Amino acid sequence: MKNILATLLMAVACASLWSATALAKPDKVDGVNVPSGRVPQKIKDNKYPRTYFPGTERVGKNEMRITAVGTGMPNQSPSNVAASFLVELGNGESFLFDVGTGATDRLAGLEVDYAKLDKVFASHLHTDHVGDVAALWVAGWLNGRYTPLHVYGPSGSSPELGTKVHIDHIRAAWAWDVTSRAGTLPNAGGEIVAHEFDFSKTAVIYDKNGVKVTTFPAIHIRDGSVSFRLDWNGLSFVFGGDSVPNKWFQKEAKGADVVVHECFFTPEQWMSIAGFPYKQAYWVTSQIHTPPEGFGKLMSMVKPRMAVAYHYWNHRDIELEIFEKVRKTYDGPLTMADDLTVLNVTKDHIEVREVSFNHEAWPMGTSKEWDTAPRGEPATGLSSDWLIKGKLKGLNPPPTQPID
Ligand SMILES: [Zn+2]
Ligand SMILES: [Zn+2]
Repeated sequence: MKNILATLLMAVACASLWSATALAKPDKVDGVNVPSGRVPQKIKDNKYPRTYFPGTERVGKNEMRITAVGTGMPNQSPSNVAASFLVELGNGESFLFDVGTGATDRLAGLEVDYAKLDKVFASHLHTDHVGDVAALWVAGWLNGRYTPLHVYGPSGSSPELGTKVHIDHIRAAWAWDVTSRAGTLPNAGGEIVAHEFDFSKTAVIYDKNGVKVTTFPAIHIRDGSVSFRLDWNGLSFVFGGDSVPNKWFQKEAKGADVVVHECFFTPEQWMSIAGFPYKQAYWVTSQIHTPPEGFGKLMSMVKPRMAVAYHYWNHRDIELEIFEKVRKTYDGPLTMADDLTVLNVTKDHIEVREVSFNHEAWPMGTSKEWDTAPRGEPATGLSSDWLIKGKLKGLNPPPTQPID
């Protein structure tokens, strides 16, 4: 009996050792890393599987895949983390619009190629839009990003309220973390770079490889909120950061392919959910945000190929009422986005589905480029001598391969 048990344990140990080796490096398909052994299929004649399983489909050469990574609130619920939309293009590039609190959990489930997640476009500096920047910075570095994380974000009414100072403070706040990892990981991946732009101007802030990202002002409590428009290959994606309906959005979103805009709770819902008095509930839902009927009216003006509503909880007792109110003022194509709603967009077709992911998903492993990227030496010398002397000798096995 003992022998059988020992053999079984051995078999389990060997199997896990073997699989760790086998799954450690991704495969490369069309320039994008996918989990080893996964074979993404080409989609033909717009015949998409009913459910999107991460890593199983190639983004077509002329296709844009948009994933609602997070669609909820700063006080997130497990089913709705905070705002984040991922745009993957047929040219192999990825763009993140906002990375609110909790979004990195979803990105892990999506088994993304972190080497591609090196750009975040931040609509404003509320936690539900940028709360996971530091988490992405470090997790992405560990999971395959060997270049800096670039954060494009707005100025504020004074320098200390702008994106540059925000990122400088993130860098300072996480000094203990990042300097302790230095040397173990590629040097450049440990950098985070702020690209601050004037929030008050409509301007192109990114223009590379045929991808153009335009910023324009949004109206949300204080100076320093914006929305974005991405143009590529004749397709357009508009991402509304928090705002009341405004003239810049109307102009930039007009006739775009996919237009995402916040669609907040009604004042009455916010009173019952959050316990706010009416005056404060109206302020939050209708003077700094856009409630469902306002969202509908705006979409009736811009007439997108697909309107996408987010920034509410998709709980059954809330969502239906929000949907009904939108439908009072807008009867065009509409997606009530939930976390992990995915839209595949081409010139002639828009497919809207849900993602199903593995809650035990592993990172896909690091690439050859990550392995060979320049790095320094592991961060020795950061612990005091008296602390090192407390080490129990002989417990951790010595190296079995040369390390000097
Ligand atoms: Zn928000
Ligand atoms: Zn906000």
